[in-house]
Amino acid sequence: MSLSRSLPAAQRQLTFFVSRSFNSSQDADLVVIGGGPGGYVAAIKAAQLGMKTVCIEKNDTLGGTCLNVGCIPSKALLNNSHYFHMAQHDFASRGIDLPSPPKLNLDQMMEAKRNSVKGLTGGIAALFKANKVKHIQGHGTITGANQVTVAKKDGGNEVVNTRNILIASGSEVTPFPGITIDEEQIVSSTGALSLSKVPKKMVVIGAGVIGLELGSVWQRLGAQVTAIEFLGHVGGMGIDMEVSKLFQRTLTKQGFKFMLKTKVLGASNTGESIKVEVEGVQNGKKESIECDTLLVCVGRRPYTEKLGLQSVGVSLDERGRVPVNERFQTKVGSIYAIGDVIAGPMLAHKAEDEGILAVEGMAGGAVHIDYNCIPSVVYTHPEVAWVGKSEEQLKEEGVAYKIGKFPFVANSRAKTNNDQEGFVKAIADKNTDRLLGVHIIGPNAGEMIAEATLALEYGASAEDVARVCHPHPTLSEAFREANLAAYCGKAINSI
Ligand SMILES: Cc1cc2nc3c(=O)[nH]c(=O)nc-3n(C[C@H](O)[C@H](O)[C@H](O)COP(=O)(O)OP(=O)(O)OC[C@H]3O[C@@H](n4cnc5c(N)ncnc54)[C@H](O)[C@@H]3O)c2cc1C
Repeated sequence: MSLSRSLPAAQRQLTFFVSRSFNSSQDADLVVIGGGPGGYVAAIKAAQLGMKTVCIEKNDTLGGTCLNVGCIPSKALLNNSHYFHMAQHDFASRGIDLPSPPKLNLDQMMEAKRNSVKGLTGGIAALFKANKVKHIQGHGTITGANQVTVAKKDGGNEVVNTRNILIASGSEVTPFPGITIDEEQIVSSTGALSLSKVPKKMVVIGAGVIGLELGSVWQRLGAQVTAIEFLGHVGGMGIDMEVSKLFQRTLTKQGFKFMLKTKVLGASNTGESIKVEVEGVQNGKKESIECDTLLVCVGRRPYTEKLGLQSVGVSLDERGRVPVNERFQTKVGSIYAIGDVIAGPMLAHKAEDEGILAVEGMAGGAVHIDYNCIPSVVYTHPEVAWVGKSEEQLKEEGVAYKIGKFPFVANSRAKTNNDQEGFVKAIADKNTDRLLGVHIIGPNAGEMIAEATLALEYGASAEDVARVCHPHPTLSEAFREANLAAYCGKAINSI
């Protein structure tokens, strides 16, 4: 459980009082470099705690990768391409007849995506104003332990002297050696969010979370998608293997092709098409695959360009990340770092939580984060979500566990909605019944995993969850039933 949550109310008040006593003679108490989910959330929290806060963002809009070219635009396209898929393949069985086969208006779908992004990035600017966070547009470079210099678009510089600096400069697409991204035919995730037409054949390098989400978008809109993956499974690291197997089967039914345990050697653009050279990891068999759009999705790497870390003696680790201690402090006491630019899963909610904790720590508060309680979600259909340990991890750690599984086909809401692919799998400690991990593949898994995360954070047992009243008819009853099965061996609504 989080330490700060366990503080008595009076002590929490004291933390708040101490934080209010900031009285800096500097231009600012805190300069945040980067206005992504880590940086902007930290800036707002710092201002709420009474710090004179400045947030520097080099891009035209706030929100970072997440709002501009990540979570938000991808989810807009996933949602609307899912509706299109339903309109084509599913509405008729629900008694909704469309006059002709539904037609895709890709420009309008992109416009809807742009509107979501615009609304949300503009919302941050409004939040900054309301919380009195000063926003400076430009590239921030650390020029001292207590100083950041901003290179502005008009060519001018602004120097900000500050008590503390928080680096939240995020990440960028990892390039694939030898493959040049043109963001039209050979695209990164950024280009894949803005294609002007639906590809006939798309090859995705990497069957991890982002590759599967963006591949799903274009597959639903009509592309033949082949995902090439070095590993032997889909869904990236941390996914439960039982979930991964069903996930692959489901996506294959939807039309995806997978080439697992396959290495991409290179790709060439002949002008008319792109040839992707691949090799089997085990058998060494070489092949060439043709496509009209190649999506390179092999991960992201920390972004520290012209950040000025060398000037204060902070070196990066072997993977280009900023090393920090448990209070998110670098080796320079006044300089902190959070989000994608430090170690840990590259997720928006992880960056946000770290941002809040880092500034609470600066204000004298307790700093504690349990990385085991950071959920992961793949927003395909069905969705995949998990938190805590997988069976594979527990086996490796030698922990004795028990499993409760409940299929959505036996859940009344999923059946009513005719959306019943998947299951909930609850893993609990064999001796203590403490919940250790939850893995869901099914409708709304991404929403449901929040309840599992809460249970894990509070150290709940499977019985605790099973005894909590859940509304009927909801998908969340499947989560309850899985816990019931984990703690006493039997669910109610399945045989
Ligand atoms: C296609 C895609 C889909 C994704 N979907 C999800 C999802 O569904 N859920 C999820 O949790 N995560 C998702 N992610 C990951 C998520 O976007 C990142 O984990 C998150 O944005 C990291 O937040 P951050 O604040 O650390 O960095 P970023 O969001 O990268 O923000 C960093 C900001 O700092 C700015 N900056 C950098 N250096 C400087 C400088 N020197 N001066 C001024 N400004 C600077 C950058 O311009 C940027 O705006 C997705 C990513 C991608 C690419």
